Amino acid sequence: MPHKPRLLVVEDEPAIRTGLVDVFTFHGFDVDYAEDGDSGLHKALSGAFDMILLDVMLPKQDGYSLCAAIREQDRKQPVIMLTARNTDEDIIHGLSLGADDYVAKPFSITQLVLRVQAVLRRSGFEEQTDHLIHLANGTTIDSVNLCCQQNDTTTAFTKREMEILQYLHRHNERPVPREELLHKVWGYDQTLNIETRTVDIHIAKLRRKLEAEPKHPQCLITVRGGGYKLLSTTGPV
Ligand code: CA
Repeated sequence: MPHKPRLLVVEDEPAIRTGLVDVFTFHGFDVDYAEDGDSGLHKALSGAFDMILLDVMLPKQDGYSLCAAIREQDRKQPVIMLTARNTDEDIIHGLSLGADDYVAKPFSITQLVLRVQAVLRRSGFEEQTDHLIHLANGTTIDSVNLCCQQNDTTTAFTKREMEILQYLHRHNERPVPREELLHKVWGYDQTLNIETRTVDIHIAKLRRKLEAEPKHPQCLITVRGGGYKLLSTTGPV
């Protein structure tokens, strides 16, 4: 089984650094970070990362000198440079030092994630995506990080909510009755006469998180007389 891609973020601006760590963690990366050039270089040269996101303007040492030092040690280490400086000269300088790609700030997170994934694929990294469930409305559920992502918005789930989604996903060839969810997800004995409203309340909460119009669900649907069904574009896992 392929491991999670390991990413190093070298960025001194706390807001950008935290944002990058969160976004890439959500996308299934194992993320570490450094706040300045010296500690960034130390971590980058450890060889422990599948990808390095390198800011150019950094305290102590700039991203260009880090990139050059990384290349000197390892010609194949994937590196993408991030910077507010986006003149042709800066881009040529970064690429001539061996960066695999160059993304100018302010960047679109979606585009950055795609660029990182593209460079990773070129480097031969095999992505681990079996923890992601893609819904027809464009929402991606991440069962490892207990959240979902739609456009640039991340919404958290409770463990119970994720267990419901995973159970429905595993059995998405048929509607799942409420009683079965109570038995399999909650662990209640089927012989007990438990209030099935518990299930409905959880489904309503999930719809508010997953659906554009919770009252007219497109992905987490009710099958009359049958139960609930999760419509995904990912096959059952
Ligand atoms: Ca900076």
